[in-house]
Amino acid sequence: MKVEENLKLIQKNIQHACTLSNRDPEEITIIAVTKYVTTERAAEAVQAGITHLGENRDEGLIAKWEVLTDKPNWHYIGSLQTRKVKNIIDKVDYIHSLDRLSLAKEIDKRANKLINCFVQVNVSGEESKQGISPEEVCDFIVNLSEYRNIRVCGLMTMAPYTEDEQMLRTCFQSLKKGQKKIQELELNHAPCTELSMGMSNDYVIAIEEGATMIRIGTALVGEEE
Ligand SMILES: *Cc1c(COP(=O)(O)O)cnc(C)c1O
Repeated sequence: MKVEENLKLIQKNIQHACTLSNRDPEEITIIAVTKYVTTERAAEAVQAGITHLGENRDEGLIAKWEVLTDKPNWHYIGSLQTRKVKNIIDKVDYIHSLDRLSLAKEIDKRANKLINCFVQVNVSGEESKQGISPEEVCDFIVNLSEYRNIRVCGLMTMAPYTEDEQMLRTCFQSLKKGQKKIQELELNHAPCTELSMGMSNDYVIAIEEGATMIRIGTALVGEEE
């Protein structure tokens, strides 16, 4: 399938989810996750109108960043090793996986501008998942104030891989509650206006529960061939 066709279908689904939940589709940004596909396929996504791209490896991000001269907004979405920060820091607009102070320190040190960071929360508590536990998120974010180049634009989570719709809803609602708590603190460094949640299999539910950035790989650009 052409990216353009996939995108049309996704936009239709977004529209529908927004109607059901009384939201404006303009609030939703699609991040095309290109980690499985070639640079050519990523270029096709940009051609189709995508302006946000996501990668989860430094090599993948750098390779595509160099070729895609339209300069889309780049999102780093995977777990990020501290020693890799320097490779990507001048290429990314958003980092979705801030989950420890040592990483914050390194981002702050290497960045020459304000970096929009999502604090990754492990809502489901699965051991295989990265992220801070929901109980610790507030303290963690308060402690980020000393890092001048970090702006906490929102919270991010990965829901469990399940068809249990209620479990997905509970997970997304929990992230939304966390966001509300942070916003109530009115921290200058953490406006926390965004919610990065929803992937190919659960983005419709994520939107109904308040997602503002959805990260879509398989359903938009496809998987590895
Ligand atoms: C791979 C990945 C996605 C996209 O997954 P799909 O199921 O292919 O849409 C989204 N978020 C993160 C963090 C990922 O690693």
